[in-house]
Amino acid sequence: MSEAAPTDDRGTLYIVATPIGNLDDITLRALRVLGSVDLIAAEDTRHTRKLLTHYDISCPMLSYHDHNKVSQAQRLLGLLQEGRRVALVTDAGTPGIADPAYHLLQVLLPHDIPVVPIPGPSAAIAALSVSGLPMNRFVFEGFLPVKSGRRRQRLEALREEPRTVVLYESPHRFVKLLRELVEHFGAERRVVVARELTKHYEEVMRGTAGSLLESWQERSVRGEFTVVVDGQ
Ligand code: SAM
Repeated sequence: MSEAAPTDDRGTLYIVATPIGNLDDITLRALRVLGSVDLIAAEDTRHTRKLLTHYDISCPMLSYHDHNKVSQAQRLLGLLQEGRRVALVTDAGTPGIADPAYHLLQVLLPHDIPVVPIPGPSAAIAALSVSGLPMNRFVFEGFLPVKSGRRRQRLEALREEPRTVVLYESPHRFVKLLRELVEHFGAERRVVVARELTKHYEEVMRGTAGSLLESWQERSVRGEFTVVVDGQ
């Protein structure tokens, strides 16, 4: 069966994981699907265009991101109900893991639209896999809330968490996060910082919350960060 063959006349949505940096990190199946669907819904069409150009794939695109998700989900529902095959991609990794795929599924699933996963990279799993921290059980927390009250509450709730915790953080809040980990979890808690995974400046730093805060306070903070924290 061709990968993107419609399963019936309702069309199919493919949730396609894409690289988190290194363009080689894409599966053969993902390329086949991206090359054969009717439409690609992308978080940032310019960003995805680079991936498609690299693999010589041409396909119409539609933007689907946090700010237009409500109207675009309805539009995609209509297209899928007409029998179109659509691939959903985000800027990096697996759609839905801390990026805007959830809303689309909430709209499509009550209409019985088939949804097919095309698995591949995710920064959380890549970081965890090299962290050296226990991986049998872990909690994915993604981004902590930005507002200080809710952020503090979340950190307090996580303080006693026995499982390894995986966090995403933007570069401009990254040092603040290390400071908060020292404050809430203690300076001795083991932490792993995975920066720019799969990219030219890939770096994995293992240490304690205190030692990592000390090093990062003196560095310029650039790139994408995933932070893995040892459980209590
Ligand atoms: N859906 C994506 C996934 O499956 O990994 C995550 C999307 S989320 C909007 C983006 C965050 O993932 C970044 O802010 C960063 O915390 C993390 N991230 C993405 N690429 C990364 C990389 N190459 N190295 C480390 N962390 C990364």
